[in-house]
Amino acid sequence: MLVMKFGGSSVADAERILKVSDIVKTQLKQKPVLVLSAMGDTTDHLLEAAGEALSGGNVSVKKIRDLHLKTIQDLGLKASVQDEIAPLFKELESLLEGVSLVRELTGRTKDCLVSFGERLSVRITAALFRSRRIKAQAVDAWNAGFVSDSNFTQAELLRESWDLIPQALLPLIDKGVLPVITGFIAKDRNGSITTLGRGGSDLSATIIAASCGAEEAQVWKDVDGILSADPRIVKKARPVRTVSYEEAAELAYFGAQVLHPRAMQPCQKTGTPVLVKNTFNPAAPGTRIVSALDKKVSPVRAITSKKNVTLVDVVSTRMLGQYGFLEEVFSAFARHHISVDMVATSEVSISLTLDAANDLGGLKKDLGRIAAVEIKTGKAIVTIIGDVRRSSEILARTFRTCQLLGVTVQMVSQGASKVNISFIVDDTEAAELVRALHADFFDPLPDVSQA
Ligand code: ASP
Ligand code: MG
Repeated sequence: MLVMKFGGSSVADAERILKVSDIVKTQLKQKPVLVLSAMGDTTDHLLEAAGEALSGGNVSVKKIRDLHLKTIQDLGLKASVQDEIAPLFKELESLLEGVSLVRELTGRTKDCLVSFGERLSVRITAALFRSRRIKAQAVDAWNAGFVSDSNFTQAELLRESWDLIPQALLPLIDKGVLPVITGFIAKDRNGSITTLGRGGSDLSATIIAASCGAEEAQVWKDVDGILSADPRIVKKARPVRTVSYEEAAELAYFGAQVLHPRAMQPCQKTGTPVLVKNTFNPAAPGTRIVSALDKKVSPVRAITSKKNVTLVDVVSTRMLGQYGFLEEVFSAFARHHISVDMVATSEVSISLTLDAANDLGGLKKDLGRIAAVEIKTGKAIVTIIGDVRRSSEILARTFRTCQLLGVTVQMVSQGASKVNISFIVDDTEAAELVRALHADFFDPLPDVSQA
């Protein structure tokens, strides 16, 4: 069994949905379960309509209705599909009228409102599969075992979902049905509709895969996978073929938001591989996220950088061996509501980095009472995500590259997360260094000394 999830841009219109059905057809033998997002920007349009209703404006779902009706028409589907979705539009309109009357939009109502996006997309897509003689069935998440808490707009799935999902889906699959399930939504124990947070349909897919013991969860997006570097900096950046869950999570924090770390959790728990693929370029291999990597792969997965960083050097003016110094320094940051990114310490000094946007006047004064403080602006963090068990190799090659470029490393920090090594350089040197490191780790020149 296989889970295939298609995001909003992958089902944005009739043409896209036809592509999806072509992709699914090639994998029918593996018994796929489909998970879909709302078509295109429908979730946003629903939220806009809700906002308008709240301010008492006229309630219109024209944009949303037009998109879905046009798609049905373009796909050449029977009028019966229109009949199937007509009650949903009726319900949606009365809900919006209610909001406009009472001028109140609770989280519960908001979740109910946005749920229509996914409920519409699965019905239309399932109908397309049936018109192509594939036994597909649209399934709303609450009929597929998705039970959440009542934390509307940000609900968490309850443990019982792990048993209920396979109970609901495996019999369908055994009957040769292709279930087409709404991502993103669930119901709480009282039967109210909830949502799992924006982008939550990835999580819907991974929990199905993990709880049903699927061979893999395929997440189809509009990018080739996780890239080895920012393509705006490194022209030769390429999709990473395999990463570990930890590396993928770390990359997500650095802005390569291909898959939210929360969405990986179910599959990480069971060791189910997650494959990120591109609907717009299905031939590309994509990125596979797995629990353990083959030892033979390169030690580095990706290189990222963050500019506009400020480095703060704090040197204790007190005697050596004093305790409580770190605490005093960090409480000063807390008092001034300044978040710290990287830290390196020695016996008498601490170096920290922060976002340049912070106003440091008050902090400097405060810290000045216990330490000598130096603030250096115009720095950048360069981060190497990779296998830190091979850190000596990574550091040796990195420092060699720095030396060749004449770049001085001003601070180093090896993350306890075992996947990242970060260092501080001057802002003006960051891009060139990232390019050089990328070339060294990803496109090494042949070793002439052994030729
Ligand atoms: N449709 C929802 C959103 O746009 C959920 C998702 O796409 O994952 O956030
Ligand atoms: Mg979306």
